[in-house]
Amino acid sequence: MRISVNKFDYMKTPLIIIALAHLIFTTNSFAQAQVPEATEIYVELDIVTPGEGDKAPTDAINLFDGNNLDEWESSNDGSAAPWKVENGIATIIPGSGFINTKKAFADVQLHIEWMSPVAEGKEGQLYSNSGVFFMGRYEVQILNSYENPTYSNGQASTVYKQHIPLVNASRPPGTWQEYDIIFMAPKFSEKGTVVSPARITVLHNGILVQNNVELLGPTLYIGAPHYEAHESKLPLYLQDHGDPVQFRNIWIREL
Ligand code: MG
Repeated sequence: MRISVNKFDYMKTPLIIIALAHLIFTTNSFAQAQVPEATEIYVELDIVTPGEGDKAPTDAINLFDGNNLDEWESSNDGSAAPWKVENGIATIIPGSGFINTKKAFADVQLHIEWMSPVAEGKEGQLYSNSGVFFMGRYEVQILNSYENPTYSNGQASTVYKQHIPLVNASRPPGTWQEYDIIFMAPKFSEKGTVVSPARITVLHNGILVQNNVELLGPTLYIGAPHYEAHESKLPLYLQDHGDPVQFRNIWIREL
């Protein structure tokens, strides 16, 4: 059986007809796209109830709500976190060492409030130094940077020695400050190469100071950073740098 097909031969079709056909087609598509419902999408979102003020939302893990440091342990030996808890505040006992969360995390949103005690005579890196170390490797600096000069890539809210904050949003010592941080963990291939580097966004006292910056590797005190593959989830660390920095209201959301 032979099937005959009438082929549409553009070469023999007057241009005016092609133009008209094109116009009808595009006008029709355009008209459809102008229906509001054509671009409206419905999905079921998880419900998260925000906390009062800066308190933890319902889907956050409360890392410190003023009562105890049960979510933390000593980074020296895994024993109970050695920092002092009093009147809803956790205070570093200088020399007692870092503390870290018992739980491991990858991509997170962190809220943490901290205060530099007034310490006349202290200056530079020695005035209320601490730090938030994501995965034990990637530090957002805590320091009194209110009228306390130091190297720019080591002041408060730096990604230490990698990214200088956009502005200095520091409050004076003796007043509470807050960080809201989005940390995206680095991803590694099975061979240990970097698939995507770590990224950090920081709001310091509500002001954007790090805008989705890309990390070059762990934040090092000495030398140039480079990545070495590690676990996909690791604890969050808080630094003891020898100063009695204080903390309250710490919560974290896994992303
Ligand atoms: Mg530090």
